[in-house]
Amino acid sequence: MGSYRIAVLPGDGIGPEIIGQALKALKSVEKKFGHQFKYTEGLIGGSGYDAKGHPLPQETLELCHASDAILFGAVGGPKWDSLPVHLRPEAGALLPLRKELGLYANIRPVQVFPALINASTLKPEVIEGLDIMVIRELTGGLYFGEKGRETLQEGGIRVYDTMEYKTYEIERIARLAFQMAQKRRKKLTSVDKANVLETSRHWREVVNAMAPEFPDVELDHMYIDNCSMQLVRYPRHFDVIVTENTFGDIISDQASQLSGSLGMLASASIGGKIGLYEPIHGSAPDIAGMNKANPIATILSAAMLLKYSFNLDAECEAIEKAVTGVLDMGFRTPDLMEDGKKLVNTDEMGDMVAEQILKG
Ligand code: NAD
Repeated sequence: MGSYRIAVLPGDGIGPEIIGQALKALKSVEKKFGHQFKYTEGLIGGSGYDAKGHPLPQETLELCHASDAILFGAVGGPKWDSLPVHLRPEAGALLPLRKELGLYANIRPVQVFPALINASTLKPEVIEGLDIMVIRELTGGLYFGEKGRETLQEGGIRVYDTMEYKTYEIERIARLAFQMAQKRRKKLTSVDKANVLETSRHWREVVNAMAPEFPDVELDHMYIDNCSMQLVRYPRHFDVIVTENTFGDIISDQASQLSGSLGMLASASIGGKIGLYEPIHGSAPDIAGMNKANPIATILSAAMLLKYSFNLDAECEAIEKAVTGVLDMGFRTPDLMEDGKKLVNTDEMGDMVAEQILKG
């Protein structure tokens, strides 16, 4: 039994709807396991900008610092697309929040639920039994290096983004990846472009230098282009993948599609004192407010929060088991709907998972 503070940041679009369902699941966990979670809501993204003039209001930042973990919905939408970059929901809220909290690692589990094996565009025999953990470096590389544009005398402009890494930035994410592999099938694939990029060559040197500390982990290296191909050819090859920011951004989305629906995939950003947990999808403005969104990615993000921030493994498993149970019973939100299944809306899916946690 424990007492924990959770900052709840629903954000924009479908954010509030899906967060509502994750809260139902957490409340079932409280009841079943005798915990007490204290939830405090904060504004973020477009709704933060509308109310406070900034997508990451100071109050929200303070709330995050005063919490044990953050449950995040999604931010953004057409309404805020024409704002200056630093005020746009994603660039102005999510990136600085990650930086401020020192969240240098994004982890995304990609699993195939047997009940959803036909939801993927890949053949069932390719994805059956798939279980990958993609670990992406989150606060370095191209997205944070020096960038700019300058006018050239001969006409046109010169534009540049700089990919850079310091040794310690590679070491800390590699350590996390090795440790994650130790708890799983003990296989780590480090992904880079060492045939071309200096940053990748150093990445590989650092990872190799650490390998003797983890003799039980089988390490291999793969170029990003090959990794991208292998992910759709033979994804069961992979256990834990670790890679730098830009490569990770792309292959984590690619890997996510192996399992079929954006609405199913959770993620955690960790590394600092306070972890941030969110579905991998965005704010889906096209279906916002329609009670149609799949809340499972957010519910599973809440499960990851319990495991990675509070070390509540059994509670995490209780949520995962409940989700599997509801899918096995044939209930589907519209994004997963197929013949012979039972259509439910966002709220109903949330209620069912919450109920199943209590029964399980
Ligand atoms: P998106 O992920 O919001 O939506 C892509 C498609 O998937 C849409 O058709 C949407 O309806 C569907 N979809 C997404 N989540 C779903 C769910 N839970 N259930 C059912 N269907 C779902 O991506 P987008 O359309 O490229 O972006 C929309 C907005 O979200 C943009 O403003 C973008 O900047 C923002 N965004 C935010 C985050 C974040 O908050 N972390 C991430 C990605 C995009």
